[in-house]
Amino acid sequence: MNVPEVYSIAVAGSIITLLVIRAIMFVLVACRLVACLLLSLSTKSSRFLFIYFPKLYHRVSRVVSRYFLLQILYFCGTAACNFIGVGSTAQAGSRAAQLAVVNLVPVLLASSHDFGARMLGISLRTYGSIHTTSSLMVFIQSLIHTATVIHRATFSPAEPQQFYGSLGGLTLLLLCVSLIIQRRYYEIFLKAHLACTIFLIYSLWRHVQLRGRFVRLCVATSAALFMATFTLRVARALFRNLAFGKFFCRLTLNSQQGSNPGDAFEVKITLPRPWKVKAGEWIKLSVPHVGLFYLFQTHRFVVVWSEDGSGSNASSISLLIKPRSGFTRRILDRIQPQTECRAWIDGPYGPSRIGRFGTRTVGDYGHVVMFATDIGIAVQIPYIRETLTGIKECRVRTRSITLVWQMDRSNALDEVRQWLQDLVAEDKSYNLQLLVYDASRASSLKDPLRFGEHDLIQVYGGEVNWQEQLENEISNRKGRLLVMVSAQRHVREKIRDFVQENVYRDVELLDLEFQPWASRKRWCPI
Ligand SMILES: Cc1cc2nc3c(=O)[nH]c(=O)nc-3n(C[C@H](O)[C@H](O)[C@H](O)COP(=O)(O)OP(=O)(O)OC[C@H]3O[C@@H](n4cnc5c(N)ncnc54)[C@H](O)[C@@H]3O)c2cc1C
Repeated sequence: MNVPEVYSIAVAGSIITLLVIRAIMFVLVACRLVACLLLSLSTKSSRFLFIYFPKLYHRVSRVVSRYFLLQILYFCGTAACNFIGVGSTAQAGSRAAQLAVVNLVPVLLASSHDFGARMLGISLRTYGSIHTTSSLMVFIQSLIHTATVIHRATFSPAEPQQFYGSLGGLTLLLLCVSLIIQRRYYEIFLKAHLACTIFLIYSLWRHVQLRGRFVRLCVATSAALFMATFTLRVARALFRNLAFGKFFCRLTLNSQQGSNPGDAFEVKITLPRPWKVKAGEWIKLSVPHVGLFYLFQTHRFVVVWSEDGSGSNASSISLLIKPRSGFTRRILDRIQPQTECRAWIDGPYGPSRIGRFGTRTVGDYGHVVMFATDIGIAVQIPYIRETLTGIKECRVRTRSITLVWQMDRSNALDEVRQWLQDLVAEDKSYNLQLLVYDASRASSLKDPLRFGEHDLIQVYGGEVNWQEQLENEISNRKGRLLVMVSAQRHVREKIRDFVQENVYRDVELLDLEFQPWASRKRWCPI
């Protein structure tokens, strides 16, 4: 090839690259527009229901998610694809197989929910429902495929292709059945789920060896995505925990003197590699010192506070942990307060984007109200801190922040007292209002007790009247109002109902990623 030819290929290559980038951008914008249109249709239909059939609306909205319309469309669209252009049982079987492997791509998009949610900027809950819905579709399509194969009486498991197909089908069934143990034996379920997924990919790959290029491409893409995200996750965790001369993070337990078994405790983690912490981020923590069984367990905790090192990167982070019955209790039992031990972190994960189309941040709202019960305070503190910094640097629109926190024990305040005091000290232009309710004592005439800089932290006895608090905030709102909730289910439901009734008064609800649980056995929904 001579020089002019190489030159012309380079020029043509650049033009084609630019065109391809433009085409990709165009497709992405078009997809976003379609998604926005569907979401707004979904919102409009719910508004219609709300105005004309308010009772029905409340019943329906409790049961179905806001993506219900999208899910219906997805199921109807897939069902249509099962029939269009299909003239025989054999064609129906092969169409179902194709649809199953196409749906395998979103199922295996990321090797962990946290990673997938962070990658797409969506909440853990949304990622979870995408994963569940598409997994269900893979299962349904595989069932149709198997039924047609058996119907045609061509099923012979001795043949390699059918043997691996049957193995894949059985693994799928096992994946579904294993959901039964999810709540009770969560850690075992997680490991079994991962092992079954890897086996499923292997058996599917062997099953489709002699099939068309499209089917093989789908299986290969799913496997590649799964492996790529898994490798990225491991590489990121290694990067976070290992630095020159520093192996592992260092964890120190700061539990209060004479604390009760149910009291939350703080752990401080010194990071080998600092990063800029954003409000709402959480990490997955593993502490080898806690015991052999817990070596490969990671548990999610929100980063409540961070100490800045060089630049604005955090050199250490603090977590607030409420002990349950497993890992969290073992930390208290096995680790001596104020002594350092090694820890392994994976993350950070979250926060998801907010607003109807995921285009906003907390600082885009003029007025922010935060409702928390019990350990839910852990996820609200970093948002208050970040918004106050934004106000100081004139980067955000927020002019008013109210935190209403209901604690179940009087000493819960001591666990976060220093952080709350630092927050009010930071609030130079009086944008922050901190209202703490102590449900373990009755209200008294001396209420509110005040402390903190300029007595800005107010403590009342008794329970919060959530509806009254919200009504007050709505009446005095300064611009668009965001209601952020991290509270037990019954409180969340009350607040959700009330926000839905006021949806036309520029009020939006944000259910945070971490929600406290009501009883020790019940797991918080994610
Ligand atoms: C995004 C996020 C942030 C969090 N931040 C905090 C925080 O800042 N402070 C805090 O105290 N807690 C936080 N949590 C909860 C915390 O991760 C759990 O309390 C902890 O993992 C429990 O560990 P354990 O072994 O002591 O629980 P156990 O008492 O052993 O577990 C209780 C039960 O829940 C099951 N279970 C455990 N994990 C899950 C899961 N992910 N899904 C379903 N079931 C499960 C167990 O199998 C068991 O049946 C957060 C959770 C999430 C999702």
